[in-house]
Amino acid sequence: MTKPRVPVIEGMFREDEDGTGRLLGGRCPKCGASFFPKQWSFCRNPACGGTELDDVELSTRGTLWSFADNRYAPPPPYPSREPFEPYGVAAVELAEEQMVVLGQLAAGTDVTTLALGREMELIVEPLYETDDAVHTVWKWRAI
Ligand SMILES: [Zn+2]
Repeated sequence: MTKPRVPVIEGMFREDEDGTGRLLGGRCPKCGASFFPKQWSFCRNPACGGTELDDVELSTRGTLWSFADNRYAPPPPYPSREPFEPYGVAAVELAEEQMVVLGQLAAGTDVTTLALGREMELIVEPLYETDDAVHTVWKWRAI
């Protein structure tokens, strides 16, 4: 039996049938500023004063702004997988939204092949599995 795939955090992203996904953000209709995650009921642009944010799906492609190769488990009390598996972290700049979104690098990404400015694409992958579900999160994949 195939386990259902469920997002680790509700409301931050959605997954499509083909494994691609979209980040769910907010955009201020007054000044055009974008926010992710959409967690505020007012625009954070201090020069704006807008009090409503529209629901928007963010761009699925951006350029690599920074990245790191995380080879050590975080110290307690932070949880980590047992046994710890190294993973990469990427900060990807979305041109249209003028923002940087953090995420893990896709499984199997060789960080030695990455360079700043590389085009990256959003995907949805498993983060961990429990008895009844595969818990998913958004990640960045080099293209
Ligand atoms: Zn605004």
